[in-house]
Amino acid sequence: MFIGHFAVAFAAKKAAPNVSLGTLVFAAAFLDVVWPVLVLLGVERFRIVPGFTAVNPLDFTYYPWSHSLLMTLVWSVAFALAYFAASRDRAGAVWVGLVVASHWVLDFVSHIPDMPLYPGGEKVGLGLWRSIPATFVVEGLLFAAGIAIYVRATRSRDRIGSIAWWAFVALLLALYLPGPWASRPPSENTVAIFGVIALLIFGPWAYWIDRHREPAH
Ligand SMILES: [Zn+2]
Repeated sequence: MFIGHFAVAFAAKKAAPNVSLGTLVFAAAFLDVVWPVLVLLGVERFRIVPGFTAVNPLDFTYYPWSHSLLMTLVWSVAFALAYFAASRDRAGAVWVGLVVASHWVLDFVSHIPDMPLYPGGEKVGLGLWRSIPATFVVEGLLFAAGIAIYVRATRSRDRIGSIAWWAFVALLLALYLPGPWASRPPSENTVAIFGVIALLIFGPWAYWIDRHREPAH
């Protein structure tokens, strides 16, 4: 899943108003921060197989450290503890941990059964990616709901708070919508590097948005 993870980050801002949107985006995408790094280090593996699912050509052959359920719980607790150590915000830390864990649930819906319950364990996945229309409906509804919740829970302090936010939404859609028809990526490492670069842009951008918006009441 892609924009669905951002939807969770947007919606979580209502539940955890003290947590920056940047932290929430980083939390929602955290497994996909770990994943490309481990791929580039040669620890985890995937293959590009055109037509592997209707939505994308990624065959995740081995990613137990970033995407098993057990390791997701470990990452969630670690992320929550790190956030608590930095902020002393107990409620925020709980929400941040839940947002990290939500990534596995959403990926479980999207992926074919390639997500291990624990390293070496049974692999599961509901396979939403087998259908482009179903993927767009489910992820689109999630994204719309996340946006609706976020814009009700916050208001912009200035023009940047509005422009930077809507530009962020537009960029995500521009990257997401053509996905199923994109040409074959040149290599596995290109995909991983693109993933790292994307998060290096999205994370700081979301912190920037957050500084220009405030809770609506
Ligand atoms: Zn993922």
